[in-house]
Amino acid sequence: MTKREFQAESKRLMELMIHSIYSNKDIFIRELLSNSSDALDKAYYLSLEDSTIPFNRNDYYIKVIPNKEQRTITILDTGIGMNAQELEDHLGIIAKSGNNEFKTALKQKKRPSEIIGEFGVGFYSSFMVAKKVSVHSRKLGEEIGHIWISQGPDGYEVHEKKRDLPGTTITLHLMEDTENEKFSRYLELPLLKQLIVHFSNYLRYPIYLPEIGKEDSWEQVNSMVPLWKKNKLKLTEEDYENFYVEQQYGYDKPLDYIHIFVEGLISYRGILFIPSKPPIDYYSKDYKKGLQLYSNGVMILDSVEELLPDYFGFIKGVIDSEDFSLNISREMLQQNQELKTIAKNIETKIIQHLLKMQKCHRSKYETFYQAFGPSIKMGIYESFGGKKHKLADLLLFKTSNQDGCVSLKEYVERMKKDQDFIYYATGHDVEQIEKLPQGTFVKKKGYEFLYLTDPIDEFILKAMESYDTYPFKNISQELPEREEEDQVETTLFQKMKAFLPHEVVEVRGSSYLEDDPVCIRSRGDISIEMERTFLTQPGTENIIAQKILEINKNHPIYQTLISFTEDEGMLEKYTNLLYTQARLIEGLPIADPVNHTRNIINLLLK
Ligand code: ADP
Repeated sequence: MTKREFQAESKRLMELMIHSIYSNKDIFIRELLSNSSDALDKAYYLSLEDSTIPFNRNDYYIKVIPNKEQRTITILDTGIGMNAQELEDHLGIIAKSGNNEFKTALKQKKRPSEIIGEFGVGFYSSFMVAKKVSVHSRKLGEEIGHIWISQGPDGYEVHEKKRDLPGTTITLHLMEDTENEKFSRYLELPLLKQLIVHFSNYLRYPIYLPEIGKEDSWEQVNSMVPLWKKNKLKLTEEDYENFYVEQQYGYDKPLDYIHIFVEGLISYRGILFIPSKPPIDYYSKDYKKGLQLYSNGVMILDSVEELLPDYFGFIKGVIDSEDFSLNISREMLQQNQELKTIAKNIETKIIQHLLKMQKCHRSKYETFYQAFGPSIKMGIYESFGGKKHKLADLLLFKTSNQDGCVSLKEYVERMKKDQDFIYYATGHDVEQIEKLPQGTFVKKKGYEFLYLTDPIDEFILKAMESYDTYPFKNISQELPEREEEDQVETTLFQKMKAFLPHEVVEVRGSSYLEDDPVCIRSRGDISIEMERTFLTQPGTENIIAQKILEINKNHPIYQTLISFTEDEGMLEKYTNLLYTQARLIEGLPIADPVNHTRNIINLLLK
């Protein structure tokens, strides 16, 4: 038996692995178990085709055996095995050797993390943790076994070695521990178990570890059939809840789940969860969205953000598609067309699911909306309304017509025939909105209006401009039609306006107001509510609404004003008082509270 040289790239890759300070050396477990799984697949398919090969399900398995005395880990499978030629061909030459891109990357790149990230390294990853690797194998259908041994880039040897049954046994002789790197940790059963569950929980063949403290007794560590591959009709709510906890998606119970099964040009399965409340950091920059990505039961990446749009970033879960290779990297994923298609598809499924929940499980949907409504609103706001076609129907609003909430669709369905706008009012809370003097106009017409209590709400409606064919209209906006004025009134309003040169653009009378003497309406794009929001944000304090001061012509104060038309001193005082009151009604700050109070007190004393 002679020592053989590795093919040049293999040697280079092996050197890289040996000197690697790649932080995720654990992946060797994933790589070797996946190879075993492939080998088992091949044996299994062969037995299906060839009736002379006996088939017994229990004969297909993987065992992982640590040995502390010898500092070895052995991975044994009952798969197809390799003969001498295959050991040479497959392990002496890297499988990717035909791939020019891989060759170039090996030549250029120094960092194993980049190589692993882009191509994966399969069998050679053993050399990140082992100084010597032996592969003892016997091919299914052949009588003789062989062993392949290598102590690193110098070369390898292959010779005959008896093996009772077909399959492969890979033995890793771990490197010595150093101060920074304790390779012996891989000899601990709890860690091995944890790694197997992490990477290979859903591999289709049982993976056994020796049971602690028992001779010749084995424990199966992987759960094999992933929940997402099971028939959803046979699963209970509890199964999904347990899975949610097992996968550490959250500490809460999920509010709902979507079990996906798609077969077509791109096939995939998965389970998506809607948590019942946002993770603590959800509305912060630190939050990382993403779904787990599996390829045929083996985890590829723990969190793929490209699978979810930001506004559905709260969704947790897993997608499994055979259309991805095990070694696909994040960089490659970003370009990946299949991934984009799946992501688009998932988004549609989430929207459909939420709409169904909105219709059929209203109180559940309201819980959902309470928790994640802000995220959906941000989706519309940040896209400047671009996402409104997808997201508008998910919005909910309190309204003037009922205690619960309505969607825009429901609002439009029950709109009055002569109504041209979707009306809304803004304020801190429902009580404040219900007292708004401007509400009387729409109420008299019998129009329902939406209550917007979140400062971002109006910005969202502005971004959407309209829903269906109906533009949104703030009830505090300038009314489209003007009421007729006689000469006396025109003179009065013009004089009053002269006392508020910068404060208002116009003073008007109106006959629909009820108990309130005055109100402010806005003209143009900036509403009173927006002015209030801008006031709280540095840099936008000077953005103010154009205001119209509206006087209630049915209120006794109106006659008083008329009587002061020629008494400019009194008219100025009353104009200022009424304007300040109108600002107070809107929750706007007033310029001189002390002076205002003095004026009111003086009037009270009269
Ligand atoms: P890849 O798995 O990407 O092909 P690897 O370097 O991991 O690359 O493995 C190279 C080849 O060696 C495999 O394609 C397979 O043919 C063979 N091989 C590796 N491990 C096993 C095993 N446990 N049983 C049978 N064949 C194996």
